[in-house]
Amino acid sequence: MNLKVPYFSLAEQNRALRAELDAAIGSVIDSGAFCLGPEVEAFEREFAAWNGSRHVIATNSGTAALHLAARLLKLQPGDEVITTPFTFAATSWAISYTGATPVYVDITPATYNLDPDQVAAAVTPRTKAIFPVHLYGLPCDIAAIQRVAADRGLAVVEDAAQAHGATVDDVKVGNFAPLTAFSFYPTKNLGALGEGGALVTNDDSFADRARALRNHGCRERYRHAEVGYNYRMEGLQGAALRVKLRHLDTFNAKRRALARRYTEHLRGLPLTLPVERPGSRSAWHLYVIRAADRDGLARHLADRGIGSAIHYPIPLHLQPAYAALGYRAGALPVAEQASREVLALPFYPEMPLEHTDLVSAAIREFFHH
Ligand SMILES: *Cc1c(COP(=O)(O)O)cnc(C)c1O
Repeated sequence: MNLKVPYFSLAEQNRALRAELDAAIGSVIDSGAFCLGPEVEAFEREFAAWNGSRHVIATNSGTAALHLAARLLKLQPGDEVITTPFTFAATSWAISYTGATPVYVDITPATYNLDPDQVAAAVTPRTKAIFPVHLYGLPCDIAAIQRVAADRGLAVVEDAAQAHGATVDDVKVGNFAPLTAFSFYPTKNLGALGEGGALVTNDDSFADRARALRNHGCRERYRHAEVGYNYRMEGLQGAALRVKLRHLDTFNAKRRALARRYTEHLRGLPLTLPVERPGSRSAWHLYVIRAADRDGLARHLADRGIGSAIHYPIPLHLQPAYAALGYRAGALPVAEQASREVLALPFYPEMPLEHTDLVSAAIREFFHH
């Protein structure tokens, strides 16, 4: 079906940047530097400068960056890692890949992010780390989580896969915890022309070890210091990301304007609208509302040619993949209710402002008939 208001589109962005992207890709083809190489190194320097961070280690996915973080912390079987059940599954995969156990605590209803008080209550002698997420672009309460971690001697890894440019007290995410993972999956605020990710850190020894782990554990060729991975970013993606990074502030400003417009239109309806906490700014990765009859609202929008999406319909503690952890329905009620009620509205930087008007009018009609 050809939607009147698509949920998401990259066509306009890639069309507008086509000449820049063609030139960048052509130069990689001419250079032959397809795996890591000068374009990836330049991207690492430029993203580090943009984020105000010391080291960027570019990878071939956000999941790989999260896994590197888990390896750097030397997580192992028997360790517990406190994390959120309401996120994309890769946050937990990184923990599980090391043999450590994800321990889920509930979120706060307004932010969809980890509740720091429940994090503190879940710490045991086996707890080694906390993996919070900045969901939908909204920074979690990272200061409170860092306090819990400092009190108990725990490490923190920020999952900023959805939060490029989000700030707390004007400092970008990626500068609070010792390790932060970003994703450059095409739909993210900064997207590659395929897969991509990065680990960000201000710690020199973490950076040195992460660079080796990313490249088969090598600092020099064919000498493997430890069992490593092929998590290298491709040269073509580094070149494409350098192009898109130059426009990221513009894209994020457009997201902010669209979000403001949605909020103005939707205020007063029996919906929960997204918020920003005092002192923090969302990167507005998604615009997510909640409605008691979420599925009815989604159908109503679909009937009018308006797309929408659910991030995420099943919280991680109830996923088949984690059945062995033994969580029951009802264990984490706020996350479970969110998974039944959240709806992401059409949202991407190039979306015409008028589409927010069409979507909002259709939502208003749903409540007024
Ligand atoms: C996208 C995403 C990831 C994984 O990133 P990939 O690049 O797709 O591997 C991890 N965590 C969150 C919250 C994400 O949104």
